[in-house]
Amino acid sequence: MGKKVNQEVIPFAANKKWLAIPAATRKELERNVWCVNCIDVVQIVDYVVQDSPPSIALAGKCKNCGNDVARFID
Ligand SMILES: [Zn+2]
Repeated sequence: MGKKVNQEVIPFAANKKWLAIPAATRKELERNVWCVNCIDVVQIVDYVVQDSPPSIALAGKCKNCGNDVARFID
């Protein structure tokens, strides 16, 4: 135990930052993602929270078309 933890540290920290944002704000952010395929603002689904110093980013799929979308959280 302890040696292979490193790989999980960053996603965990990013996830923690994400969860520190109020739930209502998180919902707004999820529904305010630009999709280049839809050429519209869409909802992100099946996303993961990534570390994107000094902040975080969401990487997932467009709810409408399934295209890869991402959103940086300021
Ligand atoms: Zn789309």
